[in-house]
Parts: sequence; C-alpha cells; structure tokens
Amino acid sequence: RRVLVVKIGSSTLAGPDDGIDRRFLDALADQVARLRDSGWATVVVSSGAIACGLVRLGMAERPADLPSLQAAASVGQPAFAAAYGEAFAARGLTTSLVLLTRHDTAERSTYLHARDALMRLLDLGVVPIVNGNDTVSVEQIRFGDNDTLGALVACLTQASLCVILSDINGFYDANPRECSDARLMRRVERIDQQVIDAAGAAGTGLGTGGMVTKVRAARALGLAGIPLVVCQGREPDALARAVRGDHAGTLFASP
Ligand code: ADP
Repeated sequence: RRVLVVKIGSSTLAGPDDGIDRRFLDALADQVARLRDSGWATVVVSSGAIACGLVRLGMAERPADLPSLQAAASVGQPAFAAAYGEAFAARGLTTSLVLLTRHDTAERSTYLHARDALMRLLDLGVVPIVNGNDTVSVEQIRFGDNDTLGALVACLTQASLCVILSDINGFYDANPRECSDARLMRRVERIDQQVIDAAGAAGTGLGTGGMVTKVRAARALGLAGIPLVVCQGREPDALARAVRGDHAGTLFASP
C-alpha cells in the first residue's frame, strides 16, 4: 500500500449556494476511488470549514474577530464532513473526520496516538478527512494554513507523495498575479533563496497560506524524503497524473 496525502485549499472547495463545490468533490472522490483500485490509500487534508460556516451563518465578509471564526468553524465542520461523506460514499468509500491541533503533533504521546489512528483508518480502507480543530485551536486560524498540516500528516503516515490542490496551476518564479511575465516552474530541486523570494507574501483572501507555506511544506517534506506536487485543483485527473509522475504543475523533488 502506498499513501497519498492530498491537501485541498479553501478556494478550491468553495462553491455556490451552500459554500461547497459538489462537482469538485465528486471529481475528487472519483479520482480517489480509482487510485484505491491501483493500491493507493488517500488521506485528504482539507481547508474550507470556516468558509462553509460563514455561508451558513449568512456572513458575507470574513469577520475580523477570532470567536466568530471559531464559531464559523464549528458550524462549517459537520456540514463540510457530510459533503465529503456523501460524495465518497457514492463511490463506495467510507470517510472519517480527524481534527488535529498543533498540540497533538507537538507532543510525542499525542503524535503517536494521531499516527496510530490514521494508520488504522488506512488499514480499514477509510479515507480520513483531516482538518485543524479551528473551534478550539486558534493558531491555525491566525497563522492559518493547512499546507503545514498536510506536510505533517504526510510525515505521520509515511506518505509516498503529497499533492496540494491549489487555485493556481503551480509555483511560479514570481507571483503571477503581480508579475505578468512570471514563469511556471515545473520542477524545484532545492529550496534556495531564489525560491523563497519567489514565494513572496501570502495569497488570496479565502486561502491564507499563499506560496510561502507551500514552500515551507515542501522543505519539511523534502527532509522526510516525500515529494510534493502543487497543481490546479480543478485539473481533471490531477491526482492520477501526480502519482504517475506526469503532473501538470510543480514538483518539489525530494533529494
Ligand atoms: P490555496 O489555499 O488554494 O492553495 P492560496 O491563496 O493560499 O490558495 O495560494 C495560492 C496563491 O498564492 C496564488 O493564487 C497566488 O496568488 C499566490 N502566489 C504568490 N506567489 C506565488 C508564486 N510564486 N507562484 C504561484 N502563486 C503565487
């Protein structure tokens, strides 16, 4: 069995009406089901609970205060887990919800417990949906990114590959939203100063990490010998292509 960890950004999951893009989830579930048939177990690390909760609470603007965001996470989490559950169940896959806090992974004993639970879920053929427990753990909201969480989960599960499905088709040599002649980097061998500079500052309003956290994740993954692909979440067959080594985005190779 090989393990794939897929991180999904808020803007990729976000959709009209109830805040969740079902078509995206259906396509994702299709891909995960096909991967399972070829021996891959998938863990999904997904952002989007807060965005989903905000829609349900009728809050058009992201509130500035933390308790409102925590409340939105609490409202959004079950709705978001249900949406994943439905899409995956329609392809014969059972999902579970795993909410982690930084504390869980910083302490050895809870780290090991988290690892044991994830591994057992994978043994049972379950697709764990992992997210930060944003209702009680505000670091994630503050510094907020699930790219780091994705890298961590990939290390915990000894993944063969980590894929970040983003709102952009990969990592450019400068922020393409600011620099019209920025070029897509297909392969990054080493995280040097040039790469760090290209990642620049944090990204869009919905997503919080931008490329900075992805490059940081790539570095942590590289140390663990796990390659990372960053690609456009709506690219059909993004996962199958990534595991085949024929990705459409950027590969951060591990040494
Ligand atoms: P997500 O959570 O969906 O991955 P983010 O907004 O966190 O979305 O990160 C992607 C965004 O990072 C891009 O849309 C872009 O605006 C920004 N960005 C900054 N620097 C770069 C870069 N060098 N290459 C690509 N995107 C970059």
